[in-house]
Amino acid sequence: MFLLGDAAHLTPPFIGQGLGAGLRDAANLAWKLAAVLRGSLPEAVLDTYQSERKAHARALIRTANLVGSLMTQGGDLGNALRRSLLPRLVLLPWLRDLALSSKTPALRRSTLVRRPWLRRGLAGSLCPNAPLDPADPGHRFDDLARGWFALVTTERPAEALCAEVRRRGAVLVVAAPGTVLHRWLRGGGARAAVVRPDGTVLRAGRDALDVCLSLPALRRRSAHPPTA
Ligand SMILES: Cc1cc2nc3c(=O)[nH]c(=O)nc-3n(C[C@H](O)[C@H](O)[C@H](O)COP(=O)(O)OP(=O)(O)OC[C@H]3O[C@@H](n4cnc5c(N)ncnc54)[C@H](O)[C@@H]3O)c2cc1C
Repeated sequence: MFLLGDAAHLTPPFIGQGLGAGLRDAANLAWKLAAVLRGSLPEAVLDTYQSERKAHARALIRTANLVGSLMTQGGDLGNALRRSLLPRLVLLPWLRDLALSSKTPALRRSTLVRRPWLRRGLAGSLCPNAPLDPADPGHRFDDLARGWFALVTTERPAEALCAEVRRRGAVLVVAAPGTVLHRWLRGGGARAAVVRPDGTVLRAGRDALDVCLSLPALRRRSAHPPTA
């Protein structure tokens, strides 16, 4: 039995993320259940639902509590500080970006999040749903990869890599220089990342073929995933 959404966790409304957390629960669990029911992944992967989502939901609730306290506590002194300080704080670019990016914390390590202890990199974070080609902003990562495993790479893929991705039933996305995905990979110190069907990075690294070997070989109902 799995609990999702408000049945699993309630958050005060200060950062408007209650529904988002529930949707993330559903996105996290749905593909795992489908793969287990299809016999493509072992039942043990279902344990990662709670271990990944619980820590994440808890971090979100802590942030909402903190923001709530900052917004409401402190009586008259708190009100005076908020009136005088807040308009100035938004002038700090890093703080403004932090508040506006709505970036979600990375998921913790699990069998489906291969996060190194040091130099954590991109594993556990979300792959941006960015345009694949700056000239065609309407066509985004999710249009190609939603619901599938994907290998995103900045490298021109060799035939061996293409074959391996195909064999594992995943989508290959080549992030061309100048694209958001290219900057995202380089910013995370990686040349390739395996992205799960829920958009979470399973593993990232510098050797695309090595990273590709983390792709589970999923059995699918439809014969071929879409191609980039
Ligand atoms: C005032 C307010 C503002 C909010 N603002 C935001 C916001 O800006 N951003 C955001 O992300 N979140 C916001 N939230 C939170 C968000 O609404 C909830 O997190 C979200 O609706 C939870 O979805 P859920 O499906 O888990 O549960 P629910 O929406 O509670 O759905 C559960 C459903 O199950 C039904 N049900 C219950 N018991 C049974 C039963 N025994 N049998 C059959 N059906 C049953 C209920 O009738 C209900 O329809 C806000 C919440 C409130 C109250």
